[in-house]
Amino acid sequence: MPGYEQHEQPRTCIADPTFLVDKETVRDATQRQLNRLAHYDSLTNLPNRTQFYETLRNNLALTTGGTTRLAVLLIDLDQFKNVNSALGHAIGDELLLHFSARLLSCITPHDAIGRLGGDEFALMLTMHGSAPDACTVAEKIRDVLRAPFDLQGHEVVVTASVGIAFAPEDATNAETLLRYADIAMYRAKQAGRDTWCCFTAQMNVDALARHDLEMALRRAVDNDEFVVYYQPKVRLSDGMVCGLEALLRWERPGHGLITPSAFIPAMEECGLIVRVGNWVIDTVCRQIGEWMRSPLGKVEVSVNVAQRQFVESDVAAHVELAVARNGIPAELLELELTEGSLMTNTERTLASLQRLKQQGVKISIDDFGTGYSSLAYLRRFPIDKLKIDIAFIRDVAATPDAAAIALAIIRLAQSLKLEVIAEGVETSAQLAFLRRHGCGQMQGYYFSAPLPLVQIEALLRESCSLSPPPAKKTDRSGLRLC
Ligand code: C2E
Ligand code: MG
Ligand code: MG
Repeated sequence: MPGYEQHEQPRTCIADPTFLVDKETVRDATQRQLNRLAHYDSLTNLPNRTQFYETLRNNLALTTGGTTRLAVLLIDLDQFKNVNSALGHAIGDELLLHFSARLLSCITPHDAIGRLGGDEFALMLTMHGSAPDACTVAEKIRDVLRAPFDLQGHEVVVTASVGIAFAPEDATNAETLLRYADIAMYRAKQAGRDTWCCFTAQMNVDALARHDLEMALRRAVDNDEFVVYYQPKVRLSDGMVCGLEALLRWERPGHGLITPSAFIPAMEECGLIVRVGNWVIDTVCRQIGEWMRSPLGKVEVSVNVAQRQFVESDVAAHVELAVARNGIPAELLELELTEGSLMTNTERTLASLQRLKQQGVKISIDDFGTGYSSLAYLRRFPIDKLKIDIAFIRDVAATPDAAAIALAIIRLAQSLKLEVIAEGVETSAQLAFLRRHGCGQMQGYYFSAPLPLVQIEALLRESCSLSPPPAKKTDRSGLRLC
């Protein structure tokens, strides 16, 4: 019987003492291997999350007497994703390996280290008499990262953000302590990265508020609580409306209408901006289509696009689909990017912008002059328009510096044959300055605040216009929109 053969074989083997030894050795080795896998990270050989927590819990138990203090440092490499995407995961892994070796050089045998996952590492420092304090260790970590890493011929410089929490002052259990260190680390990232930050109770309050906001935003997406407002742009040569900017608003139940500054940063952080940003593109393209088929005709609309949309989604493909679905000319759509978006993930963004440009979509640089101000990208990227930031326009009629900057941007745009628009125009003095210096368009409360759909349609129908400059006589007929 075949089954007999199968059972018979092990019985003979068990009778063989040498096999028994071998088998036990193999079993022990396998057990050891499994233990290792369960408690140690296979890339760096450092204790993993489970093992680190266990060590931390054991040490926290010793602090109950009140004589020993512990510090937990949570360390996260800054922009590690960029290394992975630019140089590949194998080099990313090598960086983590070298980084863990440098981290080890920062601690003493009394301390513990662990890799919690990805590019996140943790240290547990025992704070006693002569031990260096946690902040000194955090500084040391910054120091050991100064020298570049040589990764298969690629020289890579990285920085890290470090969050620190103390036991027993901040918390006495491992989970809370690490959560607090994580909150502090997040604060260090917010402070511009390459720095460390100690946990404070206020940070916890802020983190809880941020969590609540994120949950409310997720519900807002599911419940369709977002709406698009539109602000007119005015051509200065004839005072006519020549386009609109779409601006997101959140109709938060119980809170009224919320403007973007209160929720866009949170959406950018948690990634929701990608979904909502795509929704704005869809809504605007649908609206352009509806207007086109109505007596209003062709209306140019610009949409703000966040950096994460370029990194995490295919903006060009999304726009292509939305434009086709609504049967609109791509020329009626403009995307506004900030200088920061152009400077991160440059190759991917450049490829997306080139595809958008081929479709006929216009590209403008929002808040121009406030970002990295690297003028090199003006040649590299297919840009149509510069939007002078509100900060320069605000002071343009009052301070010579702001006026000089605004003027320089207008001249720069003119010599590069780009369109130029000033945002945040509130006074006739600002308007006069812009007209005097040949700025093409303006946008601001002086003419109109952003308006909900019904009101913007009324404004477009009424063909409202700024009074044109006295010297020029304008034939208004047919000039209502571009
Ligand atoms: P932005 O794109 O630079 O938009 C201009 C902001 O200036 C708008 O603020 C607008 O309401 C405001 N503004 C316009 N004229 C004046 C004025 O005369 N005086 C003053 N003080 N402010 C004026 P808003 O609507 O609060 O939007 C703020 C920012 O939020 C936008 O700045 C943009 O960066 C972002 N944002 C808005 N909608 C979206 C969106 O759909 N997606 C993304 N990613 N970001 C958006
Ligand atoms: Mg904008
Ligand atoms: Mg702006």
